[in-house]
Amino acid sequence: MNIHEYQGKAILKEFGAPVSPGVAAFTADEAIAAARTLPGPVYVVKSQIHAGGRGKGAFKELPAGAKGGVRIARSVAEVGAFASEMLHHTLVTVQTGPQGKQVNRLYIEDGSEIAKEFYLSMLVDRATSRVAFVVSTEGGMDIEEVAHTTPAKIVTFSVDPATGVMAHHGRKVATALGLTDDLAKQAERLTLQLYAAFVAKDMAMLEINPLVLTKQGELRCLDAKVSFDSNALYRHPDVLRLRDLSEEDDKEIEASKYDLNYIALDGEIGCMVNGAGLAMATMDIIKLYGGTPANFLDVGGGATRDKVAAAFKIITADPNVRGILVNIFGGIMRCDVIAEGVVAAVREVGLKVPLVVRLEGTNVERGKTIIAESRLNVVSADDLDDAAQKIVRAVRKEAA
Ligand code: ADP
Ligand code: MG
Repeated sequence: MNIHEYQGKAILKEFGAPVSPGVAAFTADEAIAAARTLPGPVYVVKSQIHAGGRGKGAFKELPAGAKGGVRIARSVAEVGAFASEMLHHTLVTVQTGPQGKQVNRLYIEDGSEIAKEFYLSMLVDRATSRVAFVVSTEGGMDIEEVAHTTPAKIVTFSVDPATGVMAHHGRKVATALGLTDDLAKQAERLTLQLYAAFVAKDMAMLEINPLVLTKQGELRCLDAKVSFDSNALYRHPDVLRLRDLSEEDDKEIEASKYDLNYIALDGEIGCMVNGAGLAMATMDIIKLYGGTPANFLDVGGGATRDKVAAAFKIITADPNVRGILVNIFGGIMRCDVIAEGVVAAVREVGLKVPLVVRLEGTNVERGKTIIAESRLNVVSADDLDDAAQKIVRAVRKEAA
């Protein structure tokens, strides 16, 4: 689960990490009131969307050349003007995709005088089963680009969970950033604070880009991108309250109600599969035959008829879906349950696109009988290869 920058900074502040004073605002009036509480004379008006690259982003509705999603304002009046221009408009950044994201909240923050921008992030490194730090002197810009062109400028290390974070980890960060004396001490303190926050809140990722050195000689977290391990949210009701559903895909929200592993994609073939590995293989083979998957969906092992029907409805509600492939290898999952769920869903919402079903495994004959007796317009397939070719062909035929 992701949260907004201002929410992430509030958490960092709880753990003592240095962040600038700031206030969230939902209207231009609130933005003006927020600015009045800040020291000034420079304010930063920051779009709050769950995507980075806001500074270099552009608003769809504004003329080309207009300012981006993070703007420096030199007066309270300018804060108000920027706020009206940004709120309820669509910000397109390298991370939002071409459709962009509507800005519904702003963060009005005290302007910093920046001497240098660094990069610092933390994530769970699955290879070592540890929390890893990624640190670079090249902050503010695209870290993937830095990794590609000047990999030596990125320092990474991981922390042994048995000992937890220690002073020497802090010194590693300070050295990587070329900081000495008091600034090294600040970097060491920050390392301990960020690690404490990361572990206490079960974060999956924490990215501070940029971490800045101000002209006054202070380190400060100027941006914060935080995401949490969804499997641990049950023990963080405070974090769960920060969820912003308007940032999430409607289909994914619906799927989460039924505990389905669903991720919306932008292709044309809807897939209903059991098992994450089989779902990945199904997506791959659709691609191999020239189609594109509209989603990843793993209905899981012990899905009920209702859960299967809900999954099928989520797929059919997607206007991009031009065909559906149901690919079930029944182990724990029974083919007849899948068949009943599909038939029930089609009875309720109808079927306007071709449907190819491949069933194999437990109760396969009963499953095939249920589908045959339903008299639905279903194309059956013998194996995965056959199924993928049939659905790609059917979608092409519809399009022609
Ligand atoms: P994004 O990464 O989405 O573009 P950032 O929060 O990193 O958004 O802001 C982009 C740039 O704007 C930063 O790299 C920094 O140079 C500048 N900036 C952001 N917040 C402030 C601030 N409070 N004071 C001064 N400059 C800021
Ligand atoms: Mg940033």
